[in-house]
Amino acid sequence: MKKVLVTGATGRTGSLVFQKLSSQSEEFQVKGFARSPEKIEQMYGSTKDFAIGNISNKSQIESAIEGCDALVILTSAVPKMVAPPSDGKPPEFAYDPEGMPEKVDCQGQVNQIDAAKQAGVEHIVLVGSMGGTKSDHVLNRMGNGNILVWKRKAEQYLIDSGVDYTIIRAGGLLNEPGGVRELLVGKDDLLSINPPDGATNSIPRDDVANLVINALREPNARNKAFDVVSKLENTPSASVTSDFSSLFAQTTGGL
Ligand code: NAP
Repeated sequence: MKKVLVTGATGRTGSLVFQKLSSQSEEFQVKGFARSPEKIEQMYGSTKDFAIGNISNKSQIESAIEGCDALVILTSAVPKMVAPPSDGKPPEFAYDPEGMPEKVDCQGQVNQIDAAKQAGVEHIVLVGSMGGTKSDHVLNRMGNGNILVWKRKAEQYLIDSGVDYTIIRAGGLLNEPGGVRELLVGKDDLLSINPPDGATNSIPRDDVANLVINALREPNARNKAFDVVSKLENTPSASVTSDFSSLFAQTTGGL
C-alpha cells in the first residue's frame, strides 16, 4: 500500500488525482493537503482525509507528509482577472501579493520538496506547465509573475534534490473526459514549436490525473521530465493511449 500526499487537492487537477487515488484504496492510501477547510467540506463533505495547511508554512507540510511514500505537487499560483477585455485590448490579470508565482510556484514547491526529502519520501510527482523555455511567453507576462520561470526553477530544484521525480509539463488544460485521446510526450516545448500530425496544444485535466496515477506505479516514470499534449479525439491517425509504461519509456531525465 503506497501512502500518497496530494497538495492542491482542492484544485481542478489535484481534486481529480485525489478522487482517483481514493477510489483505488487497495493500492493507495491518499491524504489531501489544502488551505481552506470550507472548500474541502464543500467539495468532499468532510476534512477527514485532509491535512489543512499552506505551502508557505513548512512545518504544516512537514507534519502532513510524515509517513508518506510519495508526494504529488499540484499547487499553483492563480492570477485573477482585474480588467476584462475592452476596446480590442486583452484582459488584465494580477496575483495577490501572497500568491505571487515566486512564492507559490518556487518557494512553495521548494518547501514541499525539502519536507518530502526530510521525511524520506521516495518519489515526487510534480505537475507543471509547458512553455518554460520561452521567457517571453504570454503566461510569464501575465500579472508580471514570470510564472513559468519560477516553475522551471522549482523543477530544477526537484531534479537536484536526489529524490526520484516525475515532472509532467502539461499543455493547455481542458475540462474534458480523459482516456479517449492519444497522448504525446516531448521536451523543450518542441511539441508546440513543431507539432506532430494531429497534435493539439492541449490535454484534458483527467488525462493529466491518469498520468499522475500511472507515474506513481510505473518504474519507467522515475527520474523523467516531459511535456505532454494530446491529439483530438477521433483523429484518424490517433490511437488512444492505454500503455503508460511505453509512454514513459519515450521520456527522458533532466529538465
Ligand atoms: P488549480 O485549479 O489552479 O489549482 C491550484 C491549487 O493550488 C488550488 O487548489 C489552490 O488552493 C492551491 N494553492 C495555491 N496556493 C496555495 C498555497 N499557498 N497553499 C496551499 N495551496 C495552494 O490547478 P489546475 O488548473 O488544475 O492546474 C494544475 C497545474 O497545471 C498547475 O501547476 C498549472 O500551472 C498547470 N497548468 C495549467 C494549465 C492551464 O491551462 N490552466 C496549462 C498547463 C499547466 P485553493 O483550492 O485553496 O485555491
